[in-house]
Amino acid sequence: MISEKTSNALNIIELGKSGLKVTELGFGGIPIMRVNIDEAKLIIEHCFELGIRFFDTAHMYGDSEEKLGEALEPFRDQVVIASKVWAKEGKGAAEQLDMSLDRLRTNRIDLIQCHNISSQEDLEKVMGPGGAYEVLAKAKAEGRVRAIGFSSHNPDIAVKGCNTGRFATVQFPFNFIEHDPLEKVFPTALEQGMGIICMKPLGGGLLERADLCFRFLQQYPEVIPIPGIQSRDEISEIISFYRDRRPLSEDDWEKIQEIRSELGTRFCHRCEYCMPCEQGVQIPGVLLVKTQVRRFSYKQVVAMAKDRVATVENCVECGECVERCPYDLPIPDMLKENVEIYKRFLLEHGQGS
Ligand code: SF4
Ligand code: SF4
Repeated sequence: MISEKTSNALNIIELGKSGLKVTELGFGGIPIMRVNIDEAKLIIEHCFELGIRFFDTAHMYGDSEEKLGEALEPFRDQVVIASKVWAKEGKGAAEQLDMSLDRLRTNRIDLIQCHNISSQEDLEKVMGPGGAYEVLAKAKAEGRVRAIGFSSHNPDIAVKGCNTGRFATVQFPFNFIEHDPLEKVFPTALEQGMGIICMKPLGGGLLERADLCFRFLQQYPEVIPIPGIQSRDEISEIISFYRDRRPLSEDDWEKIQEIRSELGTRFCHRCEYCMPCEQGVQIPGVLLVKTQVRRFSYKQVVAMAKDRVATVENCVECGECVERCPYDLPIPDMLKENVEIYKRFLLEHGQGS
């Protein structure tokens, strides 16, 4: 599987049956939405200098495609660009694909993925007559797309998607607290000869120990992590774990177990699919409070949480966020729990009422 090295620390991996070769570490394009174009270009160029040759974005990620398009233009033929169409039906997918090609300043997208196929309905729409897949297959035949994959947050649907035999890659959340894809999704993808791309290698920002996260992932060389990068320091730090390739020690495993039991199974993955809430409740921000009170100082917690926690008062328990959450989290209950945790934290610091 490993065929060559870049000039730096990273191996080049064949991405399943896609025909694409990518670096074993890719670039996730969500956070560059939050920086200006000049900074985004510096970050992307820095990633390229460090050897990264795989860049993932999506039609849905604000101006991420435009920033990547501009920054990667000089290196276009040396990188693999992946994007995603959100629309599940053909017409919308065709429009989004045209727009992505334009924004990315290219005449071909190396890997186009059907974004977030996480329900039976999504899968049927995408694969059915007049669905997105038909349009993407036609684009592939025309050379505007080199391979077609999909992303998902639902293991059962991801397995079904893999078993259609029509996709070259699957993208799924994977890290040391979300390791369930090892049971069904990844084995099915490998049986189908698919490439595997791992979103949320840092638990969507929940996991602060990047060393543990990437040393854990290095055990699975067939899985390509695409951490969201928003600073040059972040990617330099991550690359350092690929330079030394030190396996996890016993102490590391103990720490991983400690973090796993601290978070439990009911945690927010910060995917933001529940947003926006019509009542203005800052759902993912509030659901982080439980973790923040353990890790940050009083001042920092108040600065991060005070305004967000106040928005919970507006919740009318309409349940719309629960329907949108791919992890079926009982969001209104969890919001209340986090408010209670915050109030207790204030009392412990002599500040509650
Ligand atoms: S249940 Fe509450 S938080 Fe969720 S969408 Fe409705 S009002 Fe917003
Ligand atoms: S509550 Fe659910 S949908 Fe909202 S950010 Fe968290 S995991 Fe995602």
